[in-house]
Amino acid sequence: MLKKTKTRKRVEEILLSADTPLTANDIYTILHQEQITLSSIYRTLDTYTKEGIIAKENNIDGIAIYTLKQDDHHHFLECKNCHKKIKLDYCPYHQANSKIKKNNAFEVDETNVVYGTCKDCKK
Ligand SMILES: [Zn+2]
Ligand SMILES: [Zn+2]
Repeated sequence: MLKKTKTRKRVEEILLSADTPLTANDIYTILHQEQITLSSIYRTLDTYTKEGIIAKENNIDGIAIYTLKQDDHHHFLECKNCHKKIKLDYCPYHQANSKIKKNNAFEVDETNVVYGTCKDCKK
């Protein structure tokens, strides 16, 4: 019981301090020294996703990535080629979405990660 609480606390702390969305393995890399198992990390991520505390989506390799939901939500740009990630301090969907909502009565789902090509790979 105690251990479960510790896992939840540590997973939350790591996601909070992360600059990019993390995979379960990324979290495990940080936590395995604390005797926290990969399966307990998966269980915690699963519970948190169901509770709406964290957002889960798949990266372009089909691997699940997790972001802590915050009031002040963030998006990341990720280069499909070199996987460089850039954190945005604004919502790239905001303007487009309100227009689509108004004109098409349709609500677009936001994804935390927006894929594209960075300037180094564009050359
Ligand atoms: Zn790139
Ligand atoms: Zn947004």
